[in-house]
Amino acid sequence: MFLTISATGTPERPATDLGFLLHKHPDKAQAFPTAHGTAHVVYPEASAERCTAALLLEVDPVALVRRGKGTGRGGAPDAALAQYVNDRPYAASSLLAVALSSVFASAMKGRCNARPELAEQPLPLRIDVPALPAKGGPGLVQGLFAPLGWSVTAEPVPLDDAFPEWGDSRYVRFVLEGERRLADALRQLYVLLPVLDDAKHYWVAPDEVDKLLLAGEGWLSEHPEQKLITSRYLSRRRALTRQAMERLELVRLADTDDIEVEEIDNAVDETTDTEEQPVPLAVQRRAAIVAALRAVGASRVLDLGCGQGQLVQALLGDGRCTEVVGVDVSMRALTAAARRLKLDRMSERQAERVTLLQGALTYTDRRLRGYDAAVLSEVIEHLDLPRLPALEYAVFGSARPRTVIVTTPNVEYNVRWETLPAGHVRHADHRFEWTREEFRGWARAVARRHGYGVEFAPVGPDDPEVGPPTQMAVFRITATTETRKAEKAA
Ligand code: SAH
Repeated sequence: MFLTISATGTPERPATDLGFLLHKHPDKAQAFPTAHGTAHVVYPEASAERCTAALLLEVDPVALVRRGKGTGRGGAPDAALAQYVNDRPYAASSLLAVALSSVFASAMKGRCNARPELAEQPLPLRIDVPALPAKGGPGLVQGLFAPLGWSVTAEPVPLDDAFPEWGDSRYVRFVLEGERRLADALRQLYVLLPVLDDAKHYWVAPDEVDKLLLAGEGWLSEHPEQKLITSRYLSRRRALTRQAMERLELVRLADTDDIEVEEIDNAVDETTDTEEQPVPLAVQRRAAIVAALRAVGASRVLDLGCGQGQLVQALLGDGRCTEVVGVDVSMRALTAAARRLKLDRMSERQAERVTLLQGALTYTDRRLRGYDAAVLSEVIEHLDLPRLPALEYAVFGSARPRTVIVTTPNVEYNVRWETLPAGHVRHADHRFEWTREEFRGWARAVARRHGYGVEFAPVGPDDPEVGPPTQMAVFRITATTETRKAEKAA
């Protein structure tokens, strides 16, 4: 089973740059062991004008059977022989997609340490897939790749060339041509090869949703066949598909939200009449959060709804933090955060301290368990009120860090902002803004429900009449899960 990736070039921009991007030297034939056999990477041609890398997966059919799912065809029990004699060794499929992601892992992430600028550039690419089982035929190949801007040539493979009257097999051969970043091309293949094949060789676990959203960054949330892609990629598991669709919707909303979050918050400072340059509210907020985290001695911290990573950066600058995890639903925000933090150029020791995760805070997430503290800075007001209990459960009920810090605008303060028309919220995407009483009422109820104590603090100038522009709650766990369980049982 095999595919080729070709680039064309010029003397100034040689096609052999492809070798740098794939992290595989064109002069060498290399082999890599994978879970299902050996993956070979060879370059049938490598000149300045044209360079082709071929990925060939030599499937070990016995290993495939031993690993459980056999051919994976629709979950039907395979006849004894069919387990060993099947198309897997010859046809591209989810196995090839997995090999692609392990052999070209850096390329897929868009990393190229030797030539970072190269990874950012679109290249004239051509991808040849000579045999892929495609449920939906050449039409679906068109329907999946054409909306992504590829020019697609797809045709069915005849059952037998010598007997055209036998008709077509269920395989297609196709060629994709287009100018794009190699990482994007690889991520699209990684998702769409198994979608066409429609039979995964491995059990689809919940973390497949994360893999899909990561690989789908920048293209899946706008794809017209998003539903089919999501459902097939997740082996038609309905709960996972629903979750993925909802997260994609959030991604779309978050990513089309073009207004800078801090724009209006910063405007508040224009109303202060001090001579000195005022400290922007966002900066004051970060300082207040960092101070509160220090006060409780937190060293492993979650920044939930981290946006473009300003707080993550501040926390990394604080030697006391040994680990910082930024979580956001928006891919665009996470990409900006990675750039701000220069994640790809960090020393290994620094890089070990920081993780950026794509995730929706309205779903419980095992990855978020066991931390000292979690911060929700200017996040809750971005959720529709009916979704707030889901976030509450995911953070206070499931992740359960010892400390939770929540900040949100104080709507009473809005009258102090000359730039803000009366009755308006501070940001177009704010679904609500609370008075001090509303925030405290919510926070106290959350604390009671989940075994936390809560204290409040102002951020920014504390106006005697309307209070501060930002309100902050610091929750500290009082009851352990065990005592809560005992309480419930009693
Ligand atoms: N914490 C940052 C950013 C606040 S803006 C700061 O204080 O500046 C709110 C952020 O929450 C956005 O980046 C948005 O993408 C994210 N967000 C909104 N709803 C979310 C959800 N359901 N799950 C995860 N992140 C969400």
